[in-house]
Amino acid sequence: MSRRAVFRPRNRWRKARQLLFILGDQLSREHPGLAALDRSRDVVFMCEVREEAEHVPSHVQRTTLFLSAMRHHAQWLTARNFRVRYITLDDPRNTQSLSQELARAIDCLAPDVVLCMQAGEHRIAEALKKTCSAAEVSLQTLEDTSFSCSLSEFDAWAEGRNELTMEYFYRERRRKLSLLIADDGKPAGGEWNYDSENRKTFKAAPACPRPYRARPDAMTREVMELVGSTWPDAYGRLEHFHWPVSREEALRALDDFVSKRLSEFGPFEDAMWSGEAFLYHSLLSSSLNLKLITPMECIEKARAAYEGGKVPLNSIEGFVRQIVGWREFMRGIYYREGPAYVSCNELAQAGQLPRWYWTSDTDMNCLAHCLGEVIEHGYSHHIPRLMVIGNFALIAGIEPGRIHGWFLAMYVDAIEWVTAPNVVGMSQHADGGVVGSKPYAASGKYIQRMSNYCGECAYDVRKRSGDQACPFNVFYWDFLIRHRGRLESNHRMRMILRNLDKMDEDTIRIISEQANALRRQFGID
Ligand code: SF4
Repeated sequence: MSRRAVFRPRNRWRKARQLLFILGDQLSREHPGLAALDRSRDVVFMCEVREEAEHVPSHVQRTTLFLSAMRHHAQWLTARNFRVRYITLDDPRNTQSLSQELARAIDCLAPDVVLCMQAGEHRIAEALKKTCSAAEVSLQTLEDTSFSCSLSEFDAWAEGRNELTMEYFYRERRRKLSLLIADDGKPAGGEWNYDSENRKTFKAAPACPRPYRARPDAMTREVMELVGSTWPDAYGRLEHFHWPVSREEALRALDDFVSKRLSEFGPFEDAMWSGEAFLYHSLLSSSLNLKLITPMECIEKARAAYEGGKVPLNSIEGFVRQIVGWREFMRGIYYREGPAYVSCNELAQAGQLPRWYWTSDTDMNCLAHCLGEVIEHGYSHHIPRLMVIGNFALIAGIEPGRIHGWFLAMYVDAIEWVTAPNVVGMSQHADGGVVGSKPYAASGKYIQRMSNYCGECAYDVRKRSGDQACPFNVFYWDFLIRHRGRLESNHRMRMILRNLDKMDEDTIRIISEQANALRRQFGID
């Protein structure tokens, strides 16, 4: 006997005056389109399509999170008398394409207008435009109001500046939002930035409090089964899926972070430790990016804890910097730079992505751990992303589009507006310095200082060439050798490049040859 489905959309609507298309990362209960709807005449449209999990591969936890959160949101809307047309992945009529499903919805409901909040990916925005134009229905794009800085505010800040520096954007946002600003208008504590206090190494004692992990309910378990059977060979592991799929769960995760881990977040925010994928990090990025909660809700909770004396200044400042600084800066850059940005390749790097990025099967202990965390959880915090996984791709010469595709596929919080500036720009320096004024290239020394990975590695972090030399060291020096000509004009690189002047020709040749051999061994060349 077949089991009764937990999620059963009715899809009985035959006519709509307005059709509100809600995409999988637009699950805000304050979605501006909802307020514009007449619940008796208009229809909300949502759909699950294979195309979105296959145009780049998608980690099973990422796909599960999106589908389950969408179903929970549709259920919430239905309970509030919104008329919802929801096409499930296993609906036999599903064309498995976002554009074709929208075309089918337009055909069936004959709306006068399609409303959609600004998409988080240029590709989707373009597809919606084309579909509505072909169907001769007007498309009204609504501003995404789930950010603390609108795109017009960002553009007004950016206009006329030669360089867009996150630090100046961040300071302006702090002033504008009156965040950690003293009565005299100066930053709380006298400094804008407490990074110097936030580089502690984690020593495994005292142990980190375990973070809140949502328990999958019946609807999520149903999605897990569907995802498992639809993509049996997809990357990642599903058994540890615990991401918030509803606003209620996201708020619980926020409370848990602020009450148990925010106080130590600052000092250990750059630390890495084997077996500690989460440390004191908030784990809120997927909830923020799906719009289950807002940045200002996070900031207000954190501010209350700081004002109540429960959180030190260096921790709250680090958190505020991530939420209203980096995150909103990256979004502004994505829309300002436009669709060509994802294809930038300023350093003309052309290497393949090693197979083991998808399996973590490498004898480099740092990468085995960091990639393993991503396979296990669809997540790692910002330092493994930037200084291990992204850093390796940069210094080894991997083509930026390939590593960007990997990040887009593997993280539960990945949407192109986030990944493109973070990976193509900040991590791979492929935009030539739009996001970061110099490449985030580092040798094994950085990883040794910030983690316990090197002690148990097959390679020797003290060696930069020869037997068992740490590949991060070989590739770091090779990166500087290969790109010296391009980087010399960057004043922030001059001191670093001076180290190459001290190297004799033989040493340079040996490093280059060893880097080439490693590239062949890893399948990069
Ligand atoms: Fe990574 Fe090199 Fe350290 Fe090994 S020795 S863990 S490859 S940094």
